[in-house]
Amino acid sequence: MSANHRHPALLATDPELASFVAAEESLQAETLRLIPSENYVSAAVLEASGTVLQNKYSEGYPGRRYYEGQQNIDRVEALAVERAKGLFGVDHANVQPYSGSPANLAVYLAFAKPGDTVMGMALPMGGHLTHGWGVSATGSWFRGVQYGVRPEDGRIDYDAVRALALAERPKIIFCGGTALPRTIDFAAFASIAEEAGSVLVADVAHIAGLIAGGAHPSPVGHVDVVSTTTHKTLRGPRGAMLMCREEHAKAIDKAVFPGLQGGPHNQTTAGIAVALHEAAQPAFTAYAHAVVANAKALAAALLERGFDLVSGGTDNHLILMDLTSRGVAGKVAAKALDRAGIVVNYNTVPFDPRKPFDPSGIRIGTPSLTSRGLTAEHMPVVADWISRAVDAAAKGDEPALAAVRREVADLMAAFPAPGLPL
Ligand SMILES: *Cc1c(COP(=O)(O)O)cnc(C)c1O
Repeated sequence: MSANHRHPALLATDPELASFVAAEESLQAETLRLIPSENYVSAAVLEASGTVLQNKYSEGYPGRRYYEGQQNIDRVEALAVERAKGLFGVDHANVQPYSGSPANLAVYLAFAKPGDTVMGMALPMGGHLTHGWGVSATGSWFRGVQYGVRPEDGRIDYDAVRALALAERPKIIFCGGTALPRTIDFAAFASIAEEAGSVLVADVAHIAGLIAGGAHPSPVGHVDVVSTTTHKTLRGPRGAMLMCREEHAKAIDKAVFPGLQGGPHNQTTAGIAVALHEAAQPAFTAYAHAVVANAKALAAALLERGFDLVSGGTDNHLILMDLTSRGVAGKVAAKALDRAGIVVNYNTVPFDPRKPFDPSGIRIGTPSLTSRGLTAEHMPVVADWISRAVDAAAKGDEPALAAVRREVADLMAAFPAPGLPL
């Protein structure tokens, strides 16, 4: 059966667009997807995200809407909220933010005024744009001060974070990031934020699924607000949630709507509800632990093959590779890996001497391959492919990349991905 038959109406109305979707389905099926912020949603999440709930306007919150006809929408959103509260053990959850960046903007709106000092991890050290980095609105409307990692071991220096926080007294401190291979010490951040008089936000976009599955400590009980996307390790649709104690509930809700957004994307809320239900099952706990076990096994196999890993390894789903010693720039390696059927992103490494658009590293992770059922025993093979492709990139050896691509496609065919046509 052709992949196109999965979308018969789309195929009939817009064959050009349908062909792009079918091509993407094939690409996601045949390649080894190692971008740590990506995943495969289940068929159930995919179905919920494509429902007629999308036809409904529902500004406001369950029971307090500005439009009529909310009897079903209210149930959907209330269910998503209850599931988020249960899964993460929080007093309050807002499931309406359109994505992680708008969710973080809502946090600024709730707790700071333009020009206030805010603090987060620097982007080139592994932080996120929205943690006060200059090119982001959060770094131009607020005064961003930034911490990093130690040059010796690539880990956060909590004494330096405390010194900066006490010197700057930021309104908000963000912990969390996009390229952090190590466990975040939420208790340490909490004591710093308390001393500095700051609102503490844990942005767990990358690790929310690991937290839900018990494979990373939870920030709940340590921080004022938890911000997360729903589409990374949590394996839901593209969206976000803000969670907090009851005392901050009003401020967070007001900031999301009417402060920043209009009508929530109800089809996404439905997909989030399904993903949260899936994440509460024992199988998801096993998944979260397998993600970490796979990442540790992959890191060990890469170290054996002589690769330099920032911080020397990983505690979570993510590995940051510094390719300097292999004589290949991150972008050249990423593009070669792509031709070999292995999808990664090029990434700065801490203290990178190269430019952000042409940095020294690549960032990889195990959420997607774990969703397909690969286990630790496959990780030496994956490390071999990466090693061969990086060496081929250095030598411009295209036949070697093509050979890896065939081997990748063979293994991937044996591990069908959730949500994709067989
Ligand atoms: C992915 C990510 C975001 C932003 O999410 P988008 O949905 O891409 O806007 C925010 N913070 C962190 C730490 C992230 O990893």
